[in-house]
This record gives sequence, structure tokens and C-alpha cells, in this order.
Amino acid sequence: MRSRWNDEEAARYATDGELGLRVYTSRLLGSDPSLVLHGGGNTSVKVRERNVLGEEEDILYVKGSGWDLATIESAGFAPVRLPRLLGLAQLDALSDTRMASELKSNMTDAAAPAPSVEAILHAILPHPFVDHTHADALIALTNTPHGMEQAREVYGEVAVIVPYEMPGFRLARLCARLFPEQAGDHTIGMVLLNHGLFSFGETARASYERMIQLVTMAEDYLAAHNAWTISLAPDGSAPEVQAPLDRVALASLRREVSEAAGAPMIVAAHSDEHCLRFARRDDLARIARQGPATPDHVIRTKRLPLIGHDVRDYADEYQRSFAEYAPRLEQDGHPLTMLDPAPRVILDGELGMCVVGRTAKDAAIAEDIYRHTMEIILRAEALDAYQALPPWEIFEVEYWDLEQAKLRRQEQPRVFAGEVALVTGAASGIGKACVEALIQRGAAVLALDLNPAIEGMWERPDVLGVRCDVTDEADLSRALDSGVAGFGGLDMLILNAGIFPASRRIEALDLGEWDRVLRVNLDANVALLRESHPLLKLAPRGGRVAIIGSKNVPAPGPGAAAYSASKAALTQLARVAALEWGGDGIRVNVLHPNQVFDTAIWTEEVLRSRAAQYGLSVEEYRRNNVLRVEVTSRDVAELAAEFCGPLFARTTGAQIPVDGGNERVI
Ligand code: ZN
Repeated sequence: MRSRWNDEEAARYATDGELGLRVYTSRLLGSDPSLVLHGGGNTSVKVRERNVLGEEEDILYVKGSGWDLATIESAGFAPVRLPRLLGLAQLDALSDTRMASELKSNMTDAAAPAPSVEAILHAILPHPFVDHTHADALIALTNTPHGMEQAREVYGEVAVIVPYEMPGFRLARLCARLFPEQAGDHTIGMVLLNHGLFSFGETARASYERMIQLVTMAEDYLAAHNAWTISLAPDGSAPEVQAPLDRVALASLRREVSEAAGAPMIVAAHSDEHCLRFARRDDLARIARQGPATPDHVIRTKRLPLIGHDVRDYADEYQRSFAEYAPRLEQDGHPLTMLDPAPRVILDGELGMCVVGRTAKDAAIAEDIYRHTMEIILRAEALDAYQALPPWEIFEVEYWDLEQAKLRRQEQPRVFAGEVALVTGAASGIGKACVEALIQRGAAVLALDLNPAIEGMWERPDVLGVRCDVTDEADLSRALDSGVAGFGGLDMLILNAGIFPASRRIEALDLGEWDRVLRVNLDANVALLRESHPLLKLAPRGGRVAIIGSKNVPAPGPGAAAYSASKAALTQLARVAALEWGGDGIRVNVLHPNQVFDTAIWTEEVLRSRAAQYGLSVEEYRRNNVLRVEVTSRDVAELAAEFCGPLFARTTGAQIPVDGGNERVI
């Protein structure tokens, strides 16, 4: 592992003093996922400051919770009074809830984030800068039957070796006792078995570079034992063959996972070579059914992955182990609240690795963590044998009182959390506004558009933009494959893509143009409805379809024969779908917008010609409705999203105008 220290960059941060350099090397650590993942790891610096009374105080600036090392700023460090922390380290016992309260109430800035639960550990190490990571190499080295001996062999006098202990006060207490006993002149760090590494130094650079040195020592040891570079495709063996995605099988699995979780869940399937090869190993049950690589991962991945498909069996087993362990932890605390018993990682020979989360972001975090877990397991196997902590130790972290408290504080999830929507024509106008309305309500969205710009329009894990010609069935099928692989199924469908040709009277109507309008506005939707039905039927809360119709259905206008006819036929199609699919719990409703001018359809030319058609100026035409209001894409999108929400839970086959009131419709 190479140091990423750069003098020029460091000089820029150094203008903010010690804390500036603390920010810099924290970011260096955070930028390497083999050191810390998603909010893992923490850093600190000890400084002497003058308080408001003019007195000098020793303060520990330690990473605040909610901050990620990769992107941390100085505001992300919590200033805690150092003497108080050293005092706490001398106590025989302290509950972690009480410890968290002590940390928070001994800060010198009430607006700072809550200090890391490892703050006391940082305090007891007698050096200004302290860095802590959960380096993959160290975890691979120590998650083996001879982890302690191997750590001693690698580090000798360079690091103090601490056996596994539950993070929080107990770990801080143990380190406070062992560190002074074992540290010598050559000590530059501390190894926590099955957990991670600490390094420290006089300067930010020294502490950072010692971390790199300690991690490199573990990497070199693994490399010397042919256990560092892991080849998932041994020479000469054929690549794993990925079966075509069975969308319905994956959506059924997601349905079962959601039932076990008691709420809709996102399930992302990863069937690349790496995942398939791991999921197809003969010894999978032995190596993968032990436990996470570090207890730190248990909240994201659960203790064990599900191997195969049997979600119910997994949930039963989870409940049994909860019933077995909970009484031991409840002895000195409150009754525990069981977490949902659904798996977060599923390993399957056909699907590869599936990851589960209440949001697409949670699923993406579980993916990252498990990809590292697979490598750690294989390295530990190559070295000796993978051996995770005993189940009880992991249970203790999963049901830590701090985690339980988090559970109690948890806000109401957003209305579409864990659900998946598909929007057509999503790159502009009403479609784009629908994507926004849906993600705001917590849904993951498959956003389709003919415009290739759709693919880079949203850079976030809960939107998958796919270029797709909805009139091409093969294109549509590929888009559905990516959506289902990305999110696990389909709950909501917003049929929006449409074209509005230039005004033309029937006597001048060309059949080619007529066909083109019907192909986009009608036929494409027939195909999409047909392909979506088996997925919508499996939606955990029932499928919903919202169709963007048009005022032209109840009140057609001259010159728009093809458009009006296509939208009328689409409305009739929706009504039949409402009848046919009601038994499957799928609701189908239509909204009829009018004069939504911030859409791609309304070119200046169309706008002028339509206004002229009614003998109005463009400005009059914009507000030409009963309420004299403009109707925007956002107004339409909000209604489309509400159609899919609980407000319309008892409504199907309905048509609702969103047009500011139209005399011909009223
Ligand atoms: Zn840690």
C-alpha cells in the first residue's frame, strides 16, 4: 500500500493548522476503500485551546458520527474535553448509552456532531494524532484460527495486540489497561483482532504514514503466503456463464424478502464473474455461513447471508437465534427490539450476489461491504482458514444498546421507501418531474428516455437512467432487465412518453404520421403494460399504474386527430387494464393534463399554432382555463405520484383532469 501524502495538497490544508492537516489525512484514509468503508474508521487530534473564560484546555477533536472520512471537514470533528475522557477510561464499568451521553455533554461546542463511540480509545493513546481503520488486510490476517499468533509474528514490538472486545466502553477500558503494559519505544500502533488498526504520531503525516506502514506489513505477510492477490478465476478454468436474468424469479424473491422484512425492500442482483464464482463455490456454506468480517458490518449485512432462495427458512433461523441470545443481553438492560429477520445478502448460483436494503443506497452499501467480505474470506482461506467471531459476539454488536436507541429514534420512512417505479419519457418535462416527485417520496426509479442524456442525468444510487426506444420491444426488454437487476422488481409504472405532431386537419393527414403517433403513444404502452404485469403483480404493496392521458380525451381539439385518438385509445386501454388487473391488486388510473407548457412537446411552433386555433395570444392561451392558472410539469407529476400513494389506495379506473378547469370538460 502506497502513501497518498502530497506536499502541495497538504500545504493547502495546513493553513487551517493542526485541524486542517487532520482533515487532510482523514480524507486520504477515507479515499481508500480497502482501509475504511462507508462511515467506518475514525481519526482525532489533541490540541490545547483557550476557552471563553480565557483558560487553557486540552481538547480531543474526534470524528463526529454521521461524517465520512472521505469527505470530512473541520466541522465534522467533535471537540471533547480530554481530562474528562481520561477520567472515564478509569471507570470499572459504564453503559454505552451513558458513555455516549458523557461524550456529548463534555463537548465545548453544542453544535458539533456527536463524538465517535471510540473517542475514549483515542483519548488514552498518548500522541497528538491518532488514526483508526478497519483495513481489509488486517481483518483477513486476524479472522483465522491463529490470528493472534500471526499478528504477533507480523508486528512484533511495533504494535500492541489487543484481543477482540466489543467496541464501545469495554474496548476502550481494555486498551487503557493493555496499552501502557505493552507499549515500548518501537510501538507505532495497536492491532485490534477481528476489528482493525490504530496508528499514532506527533504529526498528521507521521500517524498517517505509520498506518500505511502497518497495513503494508499485513499485506506483505499475506503476499508471502500467497494469500494477497486472490484470483477468482483460476488459470485455465472456463468463465462462469451468466444465465439470462429471470425477471419474475428475482421479483418473487424480492416479494418474499419484503414479506419477511415487513416492508418493501430494494434487491439488487450482481451476477458478474466475481460474484457468480463465489456464489457457486462448493465450500460456500462453510466459508460464508460464519459471520461478517468485522462486527462493524453486521448492521448492513446481518450476521449471515442467505444461501439459495429460502427466505422464510432464513427468517425462522434469525428469529430462533434472537430468541436464544436476547435473554443474555436483556439481563442488565431493557427488552430488545428484534430487527426485521430478512437477509441483506443473498448468494445464489443463478443470480450471483443479491444485496438488500430499505433504500437503493443501503443496498449499494451492503454490496460494497460484501464485495470486501468475499475478498477477506478468500484471503483468510488462502492463508489458513476463515474464522469469524463466535455468533454471540456479533449478536452483541447487532443488538448494542446504541443501535437499539437509534432504532427508537428512527423517523417514519418515506411513503415509497423500498419501492421501484418506472417512468417513460423521463429526460424532460412531465417525465422528469415524475422522477423527482418519486425519489422525493423515497422510491427508486428506472428512468427511460430516447435521449441518451438520460444515462447521466441523475448521479445517485436510487435512479437508473437507461436510454430506451419504447417502440422497440427488444430495447424495452433490456431496459426492464436492468431495472429489475438494479432494484429487484417493479411497483409503479408511469406511462408518460408521447409525441404531439404539428397541427394537421384530417383531410391532410398522412398515414405514416398517424402510425408513428400511435406507435409511440399507444402501441409502446401496450407492450410495456404486458411486460410489466407479472412484475406489478408481485409488488409487495400492490402494483400501480399512472397514465398520462390528455384533456384531448374528453375534449378533443381540431387539428390533433392522431394525438387525440392515440390518447383516447390509451385511456380505453387503461380502463380495460383496471378491470383485468384489479384481481391482482394492481390499480390503474389516468390523469388528463392540459396546456403544460414546460414540456418537450410544446415547441414555440406548436404553441403559436394552438393559440391561433383558439383565436388567443400565446399569453392568454397559457392561462386559458377556469382557474386562470398555469399548469406546470411539477403539478402533473405530483398528482401522478399521489395516484400511486395511499390517498388513492381505493381508486382504480379513474380519470382525473389536471388542467386548471376546462369548461368543455366540466
Ligand atoms: Zn473501529
